[in-house]
Formats: sequence, C-alpha cells, structure tokens
Amino acid sequence: MNQLHQETKCIQAGYTPKNGESRMIPIVQSTTFKYDTSEEMGKLFDLEAEGYFYTRLQNPTSDYVAEKICALEGGTKAMLTSSGQAASFFSVFNICSAGDHLISSAAIYGGTYNLFAVTMKKMGISVTFVDPDCTDEELEAAFQPNTKLVFGETIANPALVILDIERFAKAAHAHGVPLVIDNTFATPINCRPFAWGADIVIHSTTKYMDGHDATVGGCIVDSGRFDWLAYADKFPGLTTPDDSYHGVTYAERFGKEGAYITKATAQLMRDLGATPAPMNAYLLNLGLESLHLRMERHCANALQIATFLQEHEKIAWVNYAGLEGNRYYERAKKYMPNGTCGVVTFGVKGGRAAAETFMAHLQRIMIATHVADARTCILHPASSTHRQMTDAELTAAGVGADLVRLSVGLEHVEDLIADLQQALAQV
Ligand SMILES: *Cc1c(COP(=O)(O)O)cnc(C)c1O
Repeated sequence: MNQLHQETKCIQAGYTPKNGESRMIPIVQSTTFKYDTSEEMGKLFDLEAEGYFYTRLQNPTSDYVAEKICALEGGTKAMLTSSGQAASFFSVFNICSAGDHLISSAAIYGGTYNLFAVTMKKMGISVTFVDPDCTDEELEAAFQPNTKLVFGETIANPALVILDIERFAKAAHAHGVPLVIDNTFATPINCRPFAWGADIVIHSTTKYMDGHDATVGGCIVDSGRFDWLAYADKFPGLTTPDDSYHGVTYAERFGKEGAYITKATAQLMRDLGATPAPMNAYLLNLGLESLHLRMERHCANALQIATFLQEHEKIAWVNYAGLEGNRYYERAKKYMPNGTCGVVTFGVKGGRAAAETFMAHLQRIMIATHVADARTCILHPASSTHRQMTDAELTAAGVGADLVRLSVGLEHVEDLIADLQQALAQV
C-alpha cells in the first residue's frame, strides 16, 4: 500500500473487503465482541493475541480509518482518538510523566498551548516554548536532562509559521528524543513529516481530513523509526515491564514499529477512554476519500484570495506562505511543493475595531470557531480561541491582536472575493 499514490490511498487504503463483504467500511456499532472461551478472551487482555474485546480500546471501524491515515503518512501503526486534543495529549503523555519536560514550538494551536502550559504543568510535566525560527544555539539551550520530546506544527494554526521540520528533527535526535509533528493543516496530501525526520505525527481530523464540519476527531501515527530501546532509560514506560499487563515490555514485544501505538491503545485508551465513535470514524473516512481533490482546491482558492487581499487598499498585511515574498515562501516550497493549506491570515487597516466592522458585514463567509472545511469561515483569534493569552503571549505565538483568520473553502472563488470586497467597502 505504501507504494501507491496518495490519491489511491485516500480511496483504497485501510480496508479491503473479502468475498461478499460490504464495499464500504462497515460501521461496527457495538461496544463488545463475543468469544467462545474465556481463555481466548484472556489472551486479548494479556496482549498475547490481536482482536477486539471492548470498543473503548479498539473498534474495527476506527482501525480501518486509522490504517488509511497510517498509509497516507507512510507510518507503521496508527490509532484514532475522539479529538485532536486527545491525540496531542496522548502523544505526549505516552512517553512523559511527572518530572519530565518537553520542548514545543511557541507557534502552535491555542488549545495545544493551554494543554502544555496549564494542564500538563498541573500533572508535573513542564514545557519550554521556543521560537520556531530561533537559532540552533537557542534550540540547543532549551534541552534539559529530563527532556523527552520535541513538538511542533507543520503549519502553525493560526500563525501560519512553517516549521523547519528537518532542523527540529536533527536537534531532537541529537538528544535521543523523538520529534512529534501536528500535521493537521498540511495533511499528508501536502506534507509528509516522516520524510523529513519526524517520528510521530498527530492530526486533528476535525479539520481537512473530515473536511465537512461533521465530526471532531484525532489521529496518532508512528513512523516506526524511533529506537526506544537505544534510549531505554529515557523511556521506561516503553522499555520496562508494564505491571498492568502482566509485565509486558512494549518495545521488546512490539518492536519499534508497534510499541508506541500499542502502549497508547492498551494503557491510555484503557484508562482515559478518549475513544472515537464508530459512526464518526465512518464519516471521517468519507472525508478522506476526497481529501486529495479538496486540498488542491482549498490551496488554489486561498492563493487567489491572498493575492486579492494583498492588493486591497484597506488591508494592512497578508500572511500566506504561497505568496511570493512571504517570509516562509521558500520553506513552504521545500516542504510543501504542491501548496500549503486554505488558511490565510491578514490585518484590516484600523486594527481590532476595523476587523470587527469588516467581519460583521460579511454575508456568505460565516464567523465560526473552525477552519479547514468546505465552507469558508472567518475568526478573530484574539477575542475567541486565544482569549486566555496575554498580549505578550499572543505576540510570541505569532497571533497579533488584529489578526483575522480566513479559512478558504470550496465555493467558487469569485463569490468569495465579491463578499470580501463588499464587506471591506463598509470599513
Ligand atoms: C483544531 C486543532 C487541534 C485540536 O483538535 P480538536 O479536534 O479540535 O480537538 C490541534 N491542532 C491543530 C493544529 C488544530 O487546528
């Protein structure tokens, strides 16, 4: 499957019906699974056999879809979660516990920022945020003896900073820790972080993957390349026996390819239960089947709109990596030669107040706390998603108080430009 084109994987990966079975992935709407003997069931509980026993841990519908995303990313094993937040949390908590430390790019999604800076801190896990464009020396200085991973976003939401994945991977590997990349905005259609050295990829599938504003969900994919046993003392959860499974040592039993996701499923899903509903996994799969076509149009529409805005007299600035002259234009060409995403940010001349007037007059473009779906929508992060952050934190995260985030959808681009034009005329 990994040799096929991404387009073919979007349609066919993850599920191959056997003779007489349903062509579409079946929705296995069942909490439990039946076995003939207690002994067979016992083997599942000991992780000695593969199979389903309770949907909180694993469900066939979700696994078909995880398998498809795994193929798209070029990984070895993947799991779905009930949300992108759960994927972010699990990706860290699977290898960090109280007393540990992680390094994160400061330009990340607001929810992830809160998760790391506030909630994980309460759990005794500390974080150092670094400017994604910091010098090598600054990045180096962020590492501590208890650092367990490095985290960043391919395209930061909403700062639209493009991460130099290769550089961050090298730094992480020099310290014997993995690089976790949130690839939500780029999707595996536009960027495959594993090709640039990332070890774990996560997604909020709520965005382009679902693409229709229908389901909240997440995914974690393992490249299968990080050698946990080579740094055994850093990752005891993977390299020493788990008493809650009769002493299984994940890295030994399941190898580099399977240890990380098996542990996250067997321990974190079991204990924390951030399980997607089978129906949601089914809907996500519908979205994935057209992901390759949709990404192309999202990017084409966004580039046209970014160009229009850049030339408009009432617009102070436009940020879109596809625009020549953008700070990240060259880096985007390297990591995402076919386009970045459909999200454009800009400032209206006159700041916060002008932005509010402009947004109030939009007719077809809706105000919504969302991005990356078929319908064009718009948001002012400083007064919504990022309102917990101080002005200094906002600036550090690359989200100025005047920033407007426009998620360009799949409508005809001329209708969108006409709407922007009439609303800007009211400012
Ligand atoms: C939305 C988003 C998340 C959180 O995902 P949910 O599905 O809303 O929980 C994480 N990372 C990025 C980049 C996002 O855009």
